[in-house]
Amino acid sequence: RQALFQEHRDEPAVTRDGETVKLMLNAGLMVDMPSLAETGANGIGLFRTELQFMVSPTLPRAGEQESLYGTVLDLADGKPVTFRTLDIGGDKVLPYLRTVDEENPALGWRAIRFGLDRPGILRSQVRALARASAGRDLRMMFPMIATVSEFDEARGLVEKELTHLRKWGHQLPERMLLGAMVEVPSILFELDELLERVDFISVGSNDLIQFMFAADRGNPRVADRFDPLGPAMLRAFKQIIDKAQAAGKPVTVCGEMASRATGAVALLGMGFRSLSVAASSVGPLKAMIRSNTIADMQDVAARLLAGDPDGSAHEDLLRMAQTAE
Ligand code: PEP
Ligand code: MG
Repeated sequence: RQALFQEHRDEPAVTRDGETVKLMLNAGLMVDMPSLAETGANGIGLFRTELQFMVSPTLPRAGEQESLYGTVLDLADGKPVTFRTLDIGGDKVLPYLRTVDEENPALGWRAIRFGLDRPGILRSQVRALARASAGRDLRMMFPMIATVSEFDEARGLVEKELTHLRKWGHQLPERMLLGAMVEVPSILFELDELLERVDFISVGSNDLIQFMFAADRGNPRVADRFDPLGPAMLRAFKQIIDKAQAAGKPVTVCGEMASRATGAVALLGMGFRSLSVAASSVGPLKAMIRSNTIADMQDVAARLLAGDPDGSAHEDLLRMAQTAE
């Protein structure tokens, strides 16, 4: 695997019929940064900022946050980095933050919900991100957005922080791009309104699949029961890509599904062109992309969307995905 991703590092992710795919990395700590050069990925599509908080024995100070974000941007050397604001709460418990016991933590007080209810932590993170991005691009997105009103509230908080920084004479980011994670099914029914407001979206396939099927992503007993490549899930993805394209807003898919070759074939076949994946998946996915045509992927995706009545699409999908090995 190591050899494979080094082998393809300098080759573009282009299909046999000439379609270019953006392959981005999922990251969260400084140790992830060398993977950017090693894999030849196009940037960081998902920087999970909560990891710094989870490995720290105490709440990271504003200066420590700013220093991590600044170093990450330096090391990315001009390649885009999308920072996701804190996705804590629920199962990501921080020992130094008092949280409540919840019966259904995945459905509970987490991510942007926690951020908006305890704005002090989110505000200082936004400030750290803005200061670290002074004079360059800041790409920032919010996790677990369930309604457009949550996005509006989060954006309001960001604007307030920027106004504050400006007033105190700090240099601001050259450009700010604000996005939302699409990973809670309710937002699928407010996608038009969301797409009017955001600069980009990122589909969190792990959570979106978990919530669509009401199946705990960490529970092996229900892991194989639901097919992420079945028609229900794929139709949701299809709606997202169609609406994002119509609105002219960039969309990336992150999460496990994009990292697996079968999932990637289906996503590319439906029209997605940007995937954010684990470092170890970049080389194998590049090999798969370079061995197949987008036309074949579209054909397979169309049959999967129709429910694959004769099972041929799943067979073709597996055959095409084997080129990642
Ligand atoms: C996801 O939900 O798919 C995702 C990328 O975020 P996380 O796995 O951190 O919840
Ligand atoms: Mg998620």
